[in-house]
Amino acid sequence: MKFFEKLLIANRGEIAIRVMRACRELDIDTVAIYSDADKNALHVRYADEAFYVGEAHPSKSYLNMERIIDIAKKCGAEAVHPGYGFLAENYRFAKLCQDEGVTFVGPRWKSIKAMGSKIGSKQMMKDAGVPVLPGTDGGITDIEEAKKIAADIGYPVIVKASAGGGGIGMQIVHDEKSLEEAISGSQRIAKSAFGDATVFVEKYLIKPRHIEFQVLVDEHKNAVHLYDRECSIQRRHQKLIEEAPSPIMTDELRERMSASALKVAEASDYTNAGSVEFLYSQGNYYFMEMNTRLQVEHTITEFITGIDLVKQQIAIAAGESLQFEQKDLSIRGHAIECRINAEDPLNNFAADPGKILRYRSPGGPGIRVDSGIHMGYTIPPNYDSMIAKLCAWDSTRHDAIQRMRRAISEYIVLGIKTTLPLHYAIMNNQQFIDGNTHTHFLQEEHILKT
Ligand code: ADP
Repeated sequence: MKFFEKLLIANRGEIAIRVMRACRELDIDTVAIYSDADKNALHVRYADEAFYVGEAHPSKSYLNMERIIDIAKKCGAEAVHPGYGFLAENYRFAKLCQDEGVTFVGPRWKSIKAMGSKIGSKQMMKDAGVPVLPGTDGGITDIEEAKKIAADIGYPVIVKASAGGGGIGMQIVHDEKSLEEAISGSQRIAKSAFGDATVFVEKYLIKPRHIEFQVLVDEHKNAVHLYDRECSIQRRHQKLIEEAPSPIMTDELRERMSASALKVAEASDYTNAGSVEFLYSQGNYYFMEMNTRLQVEHTITEFITGIDLVKQQIAIAAGESLQFEQKDLSIRGHAIECRINAEDPLNNFAADPGKILRYRSPGGPGIRVDSGIHMGYTIPPNYDSMIAKLCAWDSTRHDAIQRMRRAISEYIVLGIKTTLPLHYAIMNNQQFIDGNTHTHFLQEEHILKT
């Protein structure tokens, strides 16, 4: 049975190709969209059909909802997959799809909207009995009130944008005298980045771990989790390396955290694929947010569960029931993902777009590369700097690390600076090898200087 005849991918780069691969295996025709900067991009060539969407700037192309829906309708695409980034967590887009009779491959717009507010979702989870970090209950309107709450929970605290994403607008505050300025600074950034100046304060955890759970829920209320991912290795609060499962996970902790993750999904009336993010510190975990989309790091969950998450997303969007239950699932082996960015790790991760003069990606057993680049390709400066995801799987964590080292050493990318040397150094770092990671790992280990 075909879920859809034709599907439009409202994205670019590796994730557009990833979705198209699933479609091809499902006999679904694919439609790409491209901006001026992407005329020669791989995702355009991979698709069955491709349509020009607008100028290079995302607001003129990959964020242009009306234009994208227009293309979908004109070419007869019954469904739209948003990938991640761009419109993936924009409830207005999901709603527009629904209003225009095009299936949005993702959750209902109301769930996206509910989870789009960090304040609202935190409150919802608190009410549902899921642990959350102490902080201001809503957006800050009264600075004296915020000072009082910060003093009660104790410094350090973190100021966060309610509509935030990508680590933007977050500020760590160590004492009361810096609080007011941090709040107004975050409000300014939040206003310009997200069009919403609402910020809140919560307890800042020292060296927590970022652990998230993948969930899948169909439209018939069947829900499963697909275990955990550890995403603690970050730069500027953004993930750089992920692994599944988390090296510190025990059966007992997994039991508790996965139950919370499913509670989060239930409380938000969630459907399709999503990830529930927690911070973990000293035996306790706290709900941080839910990502209502396919994650960059879904690949490692696919490795350890054998489940194709994109195919599941498409089947769920078509109204199908999940074909498995929790008891049918198990973890097989260990998987690691390195995000290869066109950035100079020795120069504060400055972006380094440009032409790729030589390119050879690794292969062999247990290796997966998802990428939108190739030899001779010029990386445009207009978009995200991630150029490839390198994933390694093996039966144990130790062997997966060995395999990742081997794969990195096979990887040839010449012409631009990448994070590959940093990844290699991390794979050889004793703390990483021992599984002692936390969100301050990169700053603390001074990896490239040793
Ligand atoms: P965004 O949505 O902008 O990506 P998140 O809320 O997902 O922001 O947080 C991203 C990262 O910021 C986390 O993985 C963690 O490293 C750090 N962080 C966020 N909140 C806290 C906190 N209360 N204490 C310590 N670190 C935090």
